Amino acid sequence: MKLLERFFNGDRIALSRIITLLENDAGRRPAILDTLFPQSGGARRIGLTGPPGAGKSTLTDRLTRLFRQDKKTVGVIAVDPTSPFTGGALLGDRLRMQSSWDDPGVFVRSMADRTHTGGLSAATPHVITALDAFGKDVVIVETVGVGQSTLEIANVTDTTIVVLTPESGDSIQAMKAGLMEIADILIVNKDDRSGAGNFASDLRMVLDMRQRTDQWQPPIVRTSARDNTGVDTVYEQLTAHHQYLSDQQHIETRRLRQSRSAIDQAIEAYLGQLLADIPERSAIMDRLSARVARREIHPFTAAEEIIKKIVLK
Ligand code: GDP
Repeated sequence: MKLLERFFNGDRIALSRIITLLENDAGRRPAILDTLFPQSGGARRIGLTGPPGAGKSTLTDRLTRLFRQDKKTVGVIAVDPTSPFTGGALLGDRLRMQSSWDDPGVFVRSMADRTHTGGLSAATPHVITALDAFGKDVVIVETVGVGQSTLEIANVTDTTIVVLTPESGDSIQAMKAGLMEIADILIVNKDDRSGAGNFASDLRMVLDMRQRTDQWQPPIVRTSARDNTGVDTVYEQLTAHHQYLSDQQHIETRRLRQSRSAIDQAIEAYLGQLLADIPERSAIMDRLSARVARREIHPFTAAEEIIKKIVLK
């Protein structure tokens, strides 16, 4: 476990290597997480989500710079299904984080979205744990917000920022995807374009109709990430939300939600592994699919037979 020693000594290459193992090595993953998990929990976890092209990367870059001015170290995870830089994550990261590429206080990692739904990849929470245990003060997770899977981001972060633009259809899309429910801070980016003011008031109306289970009133902030306007206000709102969460009960609620989701994820992974480990699984599947195809048994009965192999082992 020399690698972990180097990791805890602040070696960025070890961090990179650990993340790769967490992503790809199911065998070593549990032991690594056992070591990292107790050392994590100190980082502020911020999620940024929204449609492709809304300006999430540009905003992340700008916000990272503000955190650095406050002497906070930052880890960025970009879950990226639409990257034009396929096969060149390194180049992608370099372009993504132009202003902090050379800064040792910033660590950027792109992850492929293996589900291709714009959601989190199964390894994302582990990578958050790694950056947190490594000692990053802030971890920013950037995902493309489309479909139901987006909701997961709120389960792994303390503060969720939803980024929209005044372009037509964004607000409807956002409502459909349930983005309004998870937003702690809403950004209307590309304020340099026309229609931003009207769009922001429309959003305010929609937002005010929603019932929240907590007392936080999500602010709507107009920004131009390109011209760097409004980003200071987002930063202030992030601080305000952090303050709000620091009230013991609020942070506890969020952490409980994160833990619940983490257990759900672990169950899924665990069952998946058990299923994969069933001896002669593929022969059994062949036999059962043939029976289902002949309408001799229902798929549910077939599933039951397979699951019994785990449970009654
Ligand atoms: P992402 O896909 O959400 O990460 O969006 P990016 O940050 O990659 O931005 C997509 C495009 O929009 C890029 O060409 C940016 O330069 C541009 N962009 C980002 N923010 C603004 C903005 O505030 N105004 C304008 N006009 N363009 C912006």
